Amino acid sequence: MLQPTRSSECICGNNCDAKPFSQNFLVLKCAKCGTEHFEPVSMASKVEFAYEAENDKYGDERYLDGDELRWAHHRIGEMSWKFKRVLEIGCFTGFFVKRLVEMGADAYGFDKNLKAVDFGRKKFGLNERLSIRQAEIHDNAPYDAVVLVDVLEHMDDPVMFLRESTRLIESGGQIVISGPTVERRFFDKSDFPPHHIWRFSRDGMKTMLENNGFTVEKVVVERDGMLFLRNLLGRILNGYWKKEFYGDVKFSAPEIRGGVASLLYSYGQAASDALMKFLGLSYCSTLVVARKNNS
Ligand SMILES: [Zn+2]
Repeated sequence: MLQPTRSSECICGNNCDAKPFSQNFLVLKCAKCGTEHFEPVSMASKVEFAYEAENDKYGDERYLDGDELRWAHHRIGEMSWKFKRVLEIGCFTGFFVKRLVEMGADAYGFDKNLKAVDFGRKKFGLNERLSIRQAEIHDNAPYDAVVLVDVLEHMDDPVMFLRESTRLIESGGQIVISGPTVERRFFDKSDFPPHHIWRFSRDGMKTMLENNGFTVEKVVVERDGMLFLRNLLGRILNGYWKKEFYGDVKFSAPEIRGGVASLLYSYGQAASDALMKFLGLSYCSTLVVARKNNS
């Protein structure tokens, strides 16, 4: 039997069987909640991959200036943040921290990416609101809410990360988590290990939160037919079964930002979203809002 190097445990606590996925990774699918995750076949290769992953898009100069407001940011932006102390972990340049501040929140951001934090401090003038030092965000705790947009799928151990984050939240405060789901069938180039380690199920997310002292208040599904088409096209052009991502793809669909093209894209997104909802298809991310139980 294949033995993963780190852990065969799902976010819901269930033990999973491992199957070969690619040359360097095993895939573990949870029989209980449906969540999938990847484990390296050896610790030596794990270290090597972590180093390789540094060369991915998050260090790219063009990417830094993108202010990529994702689907989850828009949904989170619809919530009320006035007078709340909020910490976004994995804030990148802080573009959403700036948005939260504009909405009346006392918002802070944390990211390990020094290049991104430096860039955001200059571009948005966020200075002391952004931090790369864990001790600083602990000194500023507790917060009314912690926001994790597309962060947990990168973690070796999301449950441990959630527990660490929970310590920063006031009793009765909120956690907001988004991430890709197992329902994606045509994955984006970065949905593969070592970039993304986890593909969540909504049941798995809910169980993880309930097991760790939260009550789930809201679960939102993103359907996004445009992303579905873009990923399908990308997979065909890059070879469908390319199973690991080291930034060496031949084809990349252009990122659409600003102007008329962006407006048309958003109409396309809304229309395809409605169609997919009508057809009962759930592609491709989820957002969960949960409240920390009073201890
Ligand atoms: Zn599970």
